Amino acid sequence: MNREQLIDRLRGIVDPEYVLSSDMDLTLYGYDASLDRALPDVVVLPDSTEEVSQVVALAHKEKIPVVARGSGTNLTGGTIPVKGGIVVHFSRMNRILEIDIPNRTVTVEPGVITLDLQNLMLEKGFVYQPDPASQKVSTLGGNFGENSGGPHCLKYGVTTNHVLGAEVVMDDGTVVWVGGKSQDNPGYDLTGLLVGSEGTLAMATKIVLKLMRAPETVKTMLAVYDTVEDGANTVSAIIAEGIVPATLEMLDNIVMRAVEETIHVGYPLDAAAVLIIELDGMADGMDDKAGKIIEICKRNNVREVKLAKTEAERAVLWAGRKGAFGAVGQVRPSYMCCDGTVPRTKLPEVLSKVMEAGRKYDLPIGNVFHAGDGNLHPLIMFDERDDEEVDRVHKLGTEILKICAEAGGTISGEHGVGLEKLRETSFIFSESDLRFLRRIKTAFDPDDIMNPGKMIPE
Ligand SMILES: Cc1cc2nc3c(=O)[nH]c(=O)nc-3n(C[C@H](O)[C@H](O)[C@H](O)COP(=O)(O)OP(=O)(O)OC[C@H]3O[C@@H](n4cnc5c(N)ncnc54)[C@H](O)[C@@H]3O)c2cc1C
Repeated sequence: MNREQLIDRLRGIVDPEYVLSSDMDLTLYGYDASLDRALPDVVVLPDSTEEVSQVVALAHKEKIPVVARGSGTNLTGGTIPVKGGIVVHFSRMNRILEIDIPNRTVTVEPGVITLDLQNLMLEKGFVYQPDPASQKVSTLGGNFGENSGGPHCLKYGVTTNHVLGAEVVMDDGTVVWVGGKSQDNPGYDLTGLLVGSEGTLAMATKIVLKLMRAPETVKTMLAVYDTVEDGANTVSAIIAEGIVPATLEMLDNIVMRAVEETIHVGYPLDAAAVLIIELDGMADGMDDKAGKIIEICKRNNVREVKLAKTEAERAVLWAGRKGAFGAVGQVRPSYMCCDGTVPRTKLPEVLSKVMEAGRKYDLPIGNVFHAGDGNLHPLIMFDERDDEEVDRVHKLGTEILKICAEAGGTISGEHGVGLEKLRETSFIFSESDLRFLRRIKTAFDPDDIMNPGKMIPE
């Protein structure tokens, strides 16, 4: 089947207005938030599971690649159609299908924007916990695909801990339900397998998510440090004391400067690092816990701890953290966000090696990350128009992930493997591990049409 015939057939499945094939459309769908680029043959925006199923069945019959896409904010090339084919963009499937408060679940289509669901639930006194910093734009389907994390994942876990089940379209168009509202399902934990599978095994068309009661009280603090090491040591000390805050986020000086140039948060620009520490839970005992944390900060040479006194002050502290990636555009035009995780006690040592590697490749690095999880996000800043610099960026990214792996950590905390970390899988997987992953992929998708070229090196 040639491209024109494919487009014609797709127009018979999805409203022709939502079958995109102009050069401009294909260019727009040829990138995501990574550095990779490749053009699809055609883009479809289905409106129902039935349409997704028919599109995938056609792709299966014709052995054409299909790539699921939410908002394209993933940072590892997960939505780049490296082998061409059909991009299935879920933006029209953005309905909240059922809010079931007695069972504490909500069922959504994959194109719902994460923050839209969270805002709606909060009005009803409930929380959907996973909160990637991209939540204003990212979709729940994309969060499902990447097993996304966020600041609150220290206490509440990542996306997989909040997905109870899903309706998925398999490689041949078959529609299957995995998991569901009940907590104990017999058989293989297919929901667990599919969350984080980066669209390489199936496409989610409905997702059942867990809701939690909104906390009675929240306390947010900003702890200011003269050395990154003192901030990092505070993180381990708090957890070692048996306190698990809702968030423990760190920003270093270079990131704070970039943020201050963009949004005025009032970060102390002469400090080496700050920690955003948030406690949530019952009002009873909260002041004691906050007092204990301040005491631990003092033991680790904190310069000052500021407590947000109002919701507006808290929002400002978070606006700085959530806007940090965008703000580094003030320093250099492009950035690559590395995502490695290490045991949190290794943070001081690993951060210093990361900065040393940056100096070796002559590239500035800012750090803004989920310190409580030991999940680093060194942001390498550069100019994408300079090929020689881009080459150094890739080398430095690989070296940083190697540092994480050698410290007993891993090559992704939450951004997945996609295209950009295929080579680095060798830092954590043996050849037999990879062979086993390939067998799983083959069992689900023997013709390799579901997001081919991603996650597992060929
Ligand atoms: C500024 C910024 C901040 C970020 N902060 C965080 C953060 O704090 N935590 C974090 O985890 N990530 C973060 N990210 C990365 C990114 O936002 C997340 O990976 C997010 O989950 C991607 O959602 P999306 O809708 O953009 O998905 P996309 O990028 O469109 O897709 C992501 C992956 O999911 C697959 N997929 C999409 N829809 C489906 C579906 N319906 N079924 C199956 N697979 C599907 C895709 O094929 C792809 O492999 C950040 C990114 C940016 C740019």
